[in-house]
Amino acid sequence: MPELPEVETIRRQLAPVVEGRVLDELRIADPRWCLPLVPAAVREAVEGRGVERLGRRGKYLEWVLEDDVFLLLHLRMTGTLLLGSRDAFAPPYERARFVLDGGVADLRFCDPRRFGTGELAVGTAAREAFFDARLGLEPLSGELDGAALHRLTRGRRAPVKAFLLDQRRIAGVGNIYADEALFRAGIHPLRPAGSLTRAQAERLAAGVREALTAGLAAGGATIDDFRHADGVRGAFQDEFLVHLRGGEACPACGGEIVKFVAAGRGTYACERCQPRPRRRARSARAGARSGRPRQAQ
Ligand SMILES: [Zn+2]
Repeated sequence: MPELPEVETIRRQLAPVVEGRVLDELRIADPRWCLPLVPAAVREAVEGRGVERLGRRGKYLEWVLEDDVFLLLHLRMTGTLLLGSRDAFAPPYERARFVLDGGVADLRFCDPRRFGTGELAVGTAAREAFFDARLGLEPLSGELDGAALHRLTRGRRAPVKAFLLDQRRIAGVGNIYADEALFRAGIHPLRPAGSLTRAQAERLAAGVREALTAGLAAGGATIDDFRHADGVRGAFQDEFLVHLRGGEACPACGGEIVKFVAAGRGTYACERCQPRPRRRARSARAGARSGRPRQAQ
């Protein structure tokens, strides 16, 4: 699934193409794409409006149209946005097509598994409510530092990997960048989020920012169907430190990278650099449940 660096890579490619143009037409081939609204209602709201900006929040791409009309796209598992000239280009699995004025190429939303979405928000209050219900801190905006991450993890007994994947805490991190960030921070993915010390929270916040920044610099990662808007694949998969590297040598200590399941996802770590959490005594667990402070490990 595309994560923040992949979505931001697409945004950077498309922004110069679409900003300042008029969205003449939005052809919605699959009515499921724009649920809960019907295609006609979405078309009526967006067609003929100028494109002020193409933005991003978490893994959402955001068409900012005239008069505070917003179309919020999520690529989910297999969604891609591809630019192509009008006649010669017929990519498979097209679910929606953006037709812009000025003779620029059409933009196709292609999506074999059909989990991607295009949702309408009319007015800034509706947009804020949409994102507030779904997304937490924006990790590359300056909001994510050690203090903020430490505060968010207090009282959370779930594994820190599950915490990182929860979009309502930190937006934009998925399976790849969670593994890479935890390795950079030297923190085991199964460690309870609430047990992080302040210093570890500091390292993890930095690890998240560094992993995302490295992904962006490489144009994102391609492990499934992700492609840039011009069809080119990202290259970050060649730079993974641990993700998908089970059985290989840890780049820091030379130990073996292991694969296991955390937060229901295939997870990679070096258990020398990222020590597995020790089992806690029953009394310590009870203390955690009641929210009483306990000594940091
Ligand atoms: Zn190691």
